[in-house]
Amino acid sequence: MIIGVLVEISINKKEKTFDYLVPENLVGMIQIGKRVLVPFGKQKLEGFIINIKDKSEYNLKKIISIIDDEPILTDELLSLGKEISDDIVCNLIKVYQAMLPIGYKASIKAKMGIKEERYIKLVSKECGINFINSSKAKKQVELVKNLFENGSVVKNKYPYNIVRTLIDKGIIKEEKKEIYRIDNTCNVEDLKVLNKYQKDAYERIKNSNKDVILLHGVTGSGKTEIYMHLIKDVIKHGKEAIILVPEISLTPQIINRFKSHFSNKIAVFHSGLSDSEKYDEYRKIKRGEVSIVIGARSAIFVPLNDIGIIIVDEEQSTSYKQDHDPKYNAIDVAVKRGKYHNAKVVLGSATPSIETYARAEKGFYELVTLNKRANDAKLPDVTIVDMKNEIRKGNSIFSKILVDNINDRLNKKEQIILFLNKRGYSSYQMCSNCGEVVKCPNCDITLTYHKNSGMNRCHYCGYARVKEEICPHCKTNSLKNFGLGTEKIEEEISKLFPTSKIIRMDIDTTSKKGSHEKIINSFLNHEYDILIGTQMIAKGLDFPLVTLVGVINADTLLNIPDFRSNEHTYHLLSQVSGRAGRDKLSGKVIIQTYNPDNYSISYSKNHDYIGFYNEEIKIRKNLKYPPYYFLTLIKIGGKVYDNTLNESRKICSYIKRNISNDMVVLGPSPSNISKINNTYYFQIIIKFRNKEKMKVILNNLVLLDENNNKINLSVDINPINL
Ligand code: ADP
Ligand code: ZN
Repeated sequence: MIIGVLVEISINKKEKTFDYLVPENLVGMIQIGKRVLVPFGKQKLEGFIINIKDKSEYNLKKIISIIDDEPILTDELLSLGKEISDDIVCNLIKVYQAMLPIGYKASIKAKMGIKEERYIKLVSKECGINFINSSKAKKQVELVKNLFENGSVVKNKYPYNIVRTLIDKGIIKEEKKEIYRIDNTCNVEDLKVLNKYQKDAYERIKNSNKDVILLHGVTGSGKTEIYMHLIKDVIKHGKEAIILVPEISLTPQIINRFKSHFSNKIAVFHSGLSDSEKYDEYRKIKRGEVSIVIGARSAIFVPLNDIGIIIVDEEQSTSYKQDHDPKYNAIDVAVKRGKYHNAKVVLGSATPSIETYARAEKGFYELVTLNKRANDAKLPDVTIVDMKNEIRKGNSIFSKILVDNINDRLNKKEQIILFLNKRGYSSYQMCSNCGEVVKCPNCDITLTYHKNSGMNRCHYCGYARVKEEICPHCKTNSLKNFGLGTEKIEEEISKLFPTSKIIRMDIDTTSKKGSHEKIINSFLNHEYDILIGTQMIAKGLDFPLVTLVGVINADTLLNIPDFRSNEHTYHLLSQVSGRAGRDKLSGKVIIQTYNPDNYSISYSKNHDYIGFYNEEIKIRKNLKYPPYYFLTLIKIGGKVYDNTLNESRKICSYIKRNISNDMVVLGPSPSNISKINNTYYFQIIIKFRNKEKMKVILNNLVLLDENNNKINLSVDINPINL
């Protein structure tokens, strides 16, 4: 027998399999979708069995062993992988590997192991009864009685010497049972009864004849509650469900909400889990022990076999697009899997992405809208403060109105969230004498000062050095801190409100496992008055006592040169605002900005998504951006500046020679961040309408690039960030 094996080597060839001979004794175990270990040159490599054949023109080597007892990729996932690899012009093996949790790599799996617990049980029932009737040892009899009633019991519940004696007497025996590292079992509560708007939305989703439904509902309109009802229905019919959530909102709060109804039917995936925990969760799925999977992007690949619904919450989140290879978009994958299983795909959001809303408006997706908050809470009142005026009054960080409102809430014993999209203390150090800005030596980006550690850090490559005292350029003592970070806000707020209790949540305060949960719970329990944080606090959290949200600087996202910067600003402001007044108390939002007239800021004042959408879609049309045109971003990276630029020009002219009239090519130009980790980056942007034509060009490019070791080329179709 001969098998075609897709091996894990980093070649650009999109789908290259190698043939191997299968020794007689292994033939019976060969199945497509299993992995094998094969000799490759001097190495031993892992690979997927892709096909089985009778002959080969080459002189073949034998496989070393078969790794899996069962195919690790189902037929569905095998062909899904091929489709994705073709769509995004990426190596097939990279796609297959992205489908499996890291713990499934054979080399890692060996170390992972399963967790076991020791149990004791009776050798036989008779011998148990005999012992109970004859023995005078009270404690031993008690244990034996317990085992008689319960079957088996965790060993370490009982004193070692009693257990030991009974084992030696041959009355009981010990056995090991596999246990999962995460146990989602808990008491089950009934779902809430849907209100009439929710009920209507629920029915429309269930009865829609479209494959994809956009559930556009304001924050707090009860979308999550609808998801749970939809899932309940699917489960009732013996089917399965996937719920995708942005990594950042995969908080214990939302997981607990699902757990409290579906208990241990759920498997959960997020980056807070260890590799072995993920390994366990994945095995629960493989073994058919769970029917609901809730997780971030990569959970879209879980090997459920009978999916009835796929839900993507906060569908506008950029986290659904993977920014490294394979650069897939989990929503596109969801739509493909939905088609395969004949399952509905529900995209939920308070502020859908422009592309998604456009599809819904055109009728490609079913559009279901919820305008009211579920518990009748009003949407918060939003005030926009022009910081140019405040600066003149000497208020450089906090406007007067924000300070007054914080004071007021503290007096009323209500809670406050302050949001700033920038961690660290100050954004950068600049010399007031010569204008020198302290930058990372490896990247074209300013270093951020972190006061707690006294270090300047690069948020791109992790480079860190002790903060400068003297300007590296003019050697004077004139370095000053500019810009704000969450650390600085924390310091200033504690100066202004010395008796208030303040907690900060950003990457720097949540690096320890479980710290996320701890901060959220303690804030929920009102152990703190003010929560200061980055994006991390913008989504999904539900704190009934929060009545004031302050956005310290709404301009941080606007200033990023990306055609989506207005969209991102609108999303983020709506998300943060959505944290205010979610329960009985009404909420207020104060947005500080230097661009009060910018439409993404002004429309968010009235929660007017449609107004924003109409404005934005005009611009997209005029400038030939999505959804009117597709985009492809080609990045060319190289260690030598001149070479990289030259190669980029060659690539660009190749593309220009091959494009058709409906395509636009921009570049090459230095990337947004033109140097990262000592590699220079140039980019070419292609706007196009015909995907198939584009793919031909890109595939040829990738082939041409294979022999070019001066540069590395990356292709990103429908990029999320430019
Ligand atoms: P969304 O997901 O749209 O932000 P949620 O599902 O989180 O909204 O609902 C917002 C709040 O309203 C939650 O506290 C939720 O428990 C409550 N809620 C939602 N639906 C109902 C309902 N039908 N009856 C009572 N409370 C509800
Ligand atoms: Zn750096």
